[in-house]
Amino acid sequence: MIRTRFAPSPTGFLHVGGLRTALYNYLFAKSHNGRFILRIEDTDQSRKVPGAVENLIETLKWANVTPDEGPEFGGDLGPYIQSQRLEIYRQHIQSLIEKGHAYYCFCSTDRLDALRKQQIAEHRQPRYDNRCRTLSDSDIRKRLANNEPHVVRMKTPETGTIEIHDLIRGNVPFPAEQLDDQVLMKSDGYPTYHLANVVDDHLMQISHVIRGEEWLPSTPKHQLLYKYFGWDSPQFAHLSLLLNPDKSKLSKRQGDVAVEDYRKKGYLPEALINFLALLGWNPGTDQEIFSMEELIHEFSLERVGRSGAIFNVEKLAWMNGHYIRTLSPEKLFQLSSGFLPDRSGWSDSQTISVLTAIQEGLTKFSELPDKTRLFFTEKLNYDIPDIQEYLAKPEAVTILESLVSQMEIVQDFNGDSFVAAIKTVQKTTGIKGKPLWMTIRAALTGETHGPEIHVITNILSQETCACRLQLALDYARRQTSRN
Ligand code: GLU
Repeated sequence: MIRTRFAPSPTGFLHVGGLRTALYNYLFAKSHNGRFILRIEDTDQSRKVPGAVENLIETLKWANVTPDEGPEFGGDLGPYIQSQRLEIYRQHIQSLIEKGHAYYCFCSTDRLDALRKQQIAEHRQPRYDNRCRTLSDSDIRKRLANNEPHVVRMKTPETGTIEIHDLIRGNVPFPAEQLDDQVLMKSDGYPTYHLANVVDDHLMQISHVIRGEEWLPSTPKHQLLYKYFGWDSPQFAHLSLLLNPDKSKLSKRQGDVAVEDYRKKGYLPEALINFLALLGWNPGTDQEIFSMEELIHEFSLERVGRSGAIFNVEKLAWMNGHYIRTLSPEKLFQLSSGFLPDRSGWSDSQTISVLTAIQEGLTKFSELPDKTRLFFTEKLNYDIPDIQEYLAKPEAVTILESLVSQMEIVQDFNGDSFVAAIKTVQKTTGIKGKPLWMTIRAALTGETHGPEIHVITNILSQETCACRLQLALDYARRQTSRN
């Protein structure tokens, strides 16, 4: 049975890189009819952020990367929160000490600091000097009986090579002498990440560990721990980093990195998932749009690349636009709640017409206030350079005077009759093309872009259009009299 896990530390928001890791674990498990497990790694109590676990679970659910087991999801191999498993770690540490693979270390922080400083000054790699490896049994017993603060360290081999087989990177050798005698149990009685991670991956029967490449250097230590416990190790796959367009590590300074940020801006989970799936995994075809089902069907670790993948927000926006265009009017309306500006006087069905009118050009829901302004706003502002430029031209007065008088006689006002009125203006004034249409667009919407004029005037009432055209005409007259 394939069992994968996502094992975040609840230190804040979920990073888009974290969601990609969760997604690849999910896809790999699902593509093999396996199970995807969520485990909360909260052994570093000082870094714990209140609400982070709830937020994480909520975000995974939003993204449809739903665990089969985990806190809130149940499962037979829990608890799935490490701080609730302290007794398990204590027993395992004890067995490592008994087998001689781990030892008590009583070195003070002062001593360790001094050691590190000296090693740095001598241009040596800072590492523990293994001093407590050789303490006598009676010494250890005495110190423990005196309640002397201590940690437990693993004994790493001093020579040789530890080779990791990584499903993405192949064989990766690590010289043993580079490995420190890693602390496994801290003085507060909490395990370190390394111990808890290995014990839990074993007890939770994880078959594949798929995680970020920043954990690759820890893997030889984990491999040793599996050996010391006498367990088979899971298979490993380390994913490369997500990068900014300048190839530096994806960082807050160059854009949003929290899934939350994208959600708040109105990106759809389907788009974010589709986008993240392709950051590192190559489907081997030109297909770019994938549903979750298709991803599950197509995904394989063999097609995950070794080099860093660039997080290109424009591509994400394009994809989001694609998914927005596929939404039904009702769904579009439902998802836009929370993003729409004040629309008093507009019924839900009128609002749906507005939304479908702008659906084509929408790339994210946070654009709604901007893109719907031309409909919902009471009073347009013409004092914007582009708009002012159109309305200050002498022909603007000619066009608008003619159109205002057409508005008085237009029958059955709608998009078609309005366009017919524009055609009459064209005939009577002799002005056509861009100067004609842009002036009318500017007058009617206060903007230079937007849906087609007949689409807009199918939605706006005759009264609103007449009123806006009159205001624009007044404005245009003021501008020309000033020139
Ligand atoms: N708790 C680690 C993290 O925050 C998990 C690393 C792993 O998957 O082993 O990313």
